[in-house]
Amino acid sequence: MILPFESALPDIAWPAAVSGRGMATLSLLFQLDRTQWWPADRLRESQQTQLKRLLHHAGQHVPFYRRRLGTLADVDGEAFWQRWRDLPLLTRQDVQKAGDDLFSRALPDGHGELTEVYTSGSTGKPIHAVRSDLWLLMWSAVTVREHLWHGREFAGKLAAIRESAAGKALYPEGERLDNWGFSTADIFRTGASVSLNITTPVDQQLDWLLREEPDYLLTHPTMLDRLVRRSAELGRRPQRLKQALTISEILAPGLRELCRAEWGVRVVDTYSTRETGYLALQCPDTDHYHLQSETVLVEILDADGRPCAPGEIGRVIVTPLHNLAMPLLRYDVGDHAEMGEPCSCGRGLPTIRRILGRRQNMLRTAQGERWPLLSSDDIGKLLALAPIRQYQFAQTHPDRIEVRLQAARPLTAEEAQGIVAWARAKFGREFRIDLAFPAELSRSASGKFEDFICLL
Ligand SMILES: [Zn+2]
Repeated sequence: MILPFESALPDIAWPAAVSGRGMATLSLLFQLDRTQWWPADRLRESQQTQLKRLLHHAGQHVPFYRRRLGTLADVDGEAFWQRWRDLPLLTRQDVQKAGDDLFSRALPDGHGELTEVYTSGSTGKPIHAVRSDLWLLMWSAVTVREHLWHGREFAGKLAAIRESAAGKALYPEGERLDNWGFSTADIFRTGASVSLNITTPVDQQLDWLLREEPDYLLTHPTMLDRLVRRSAELGRRPQRLKQALTISEILAPGLRELCRAEWGVRVVDTYSTRETGYLALQCPDTDHYHLQSETVLVEILDADGRPCAPGEIGRVIVTPLHNLAMPLLRYDVGDHAEMGEPCSCGRGLPTIRRILGRRQNMLRTAQGERWPLLSSDDIGKLLALAPIRQYQFAQTHPDRIEVRLQAARPLTAEEAQGIVAWARAKFGREFRIDLAFPAELSRSASGKFEDFICLL
């Protein structure tokens, strides 16, 4: 692949003299290009080294941590990790309660200015967070790493259908930028990027997409699902598209297959949160996710707080390694994920196989809680039963599950019976299945869509 480096100096054409910030990002990318192949043990050792610097800073300059860390930063090797696991988890409520006490009172030289972010989250209560320029630089490096991993052609057009400020990026025009955003454009000459507000009705989104004919589309998985289905119904599909990039919600089973079948393109998913940044990127060679160990420590913990083995499902606990402005140590992001095996691609970055969402949305049965795992085969069978556009399952009572559907037309009695039989086979004979056809399927307060919700 030929990379179109962008020179910031008009009289220097080759090799390109990229901008100062571009050079800084490239110096990180140069390192990441090597560290991705390190064995997992070496990555863990280096994480420990960085983590101790973060702990040292937090203990000195962050009021919330002043009396909480003890001598943790002075312990070495495995003993460190044992002590680390005694450190209490930090919940969303803790962060809200702590407020400014989580902000650093002093920032060392070289970390730059601060930016503020507010995140809503599933509870609807906002979190006030700050980030340093240095953290943002790490974020930029991972942004560009993701493009490079997936072999994107920077000359192409990137389209995004995502949250925009109210009244921004509206249909029919959307918004237009002559590059892919600062992280990438600091280094490479890129094509244009266009964006449309995610609140646009799906038919207008499709109209916009077919007019723009981008090379890459970035959106939420549930939006992609609706776009692909609507496009299949109308028999009009984007012609130039090479990849569909998904962010912000859990990727439902079956969407990868659907997108490949209808549009002939691969889905590339990214796992990140507003408070913590990137957690994992999809592997270029498989559908698994590589933890971004160079910038964040991600622990997947079982019910007893022990690290999960491959194949086990646990809570996602996150420690960003470089945001000294607001250290979050062992932050519980609220999701669950399944730990993966070492990846066949050879990268040492640990993997997670899938992200499962929030514990509140486990299925409750007389025997206890379990994940209502739907395979792409399950979903394929469901969608073969009737012209379903979107679906959601809600446990409304201990013994009742509501199957919420949006369909292209009213269902026949036979189709409805088929769906009830499918749901009972999937969730269990003990459940009564209700069918519902609401005008809109509900989203969480943060705008995220989950295909299974528990309302008990
Ligand atoms: Zn891999």
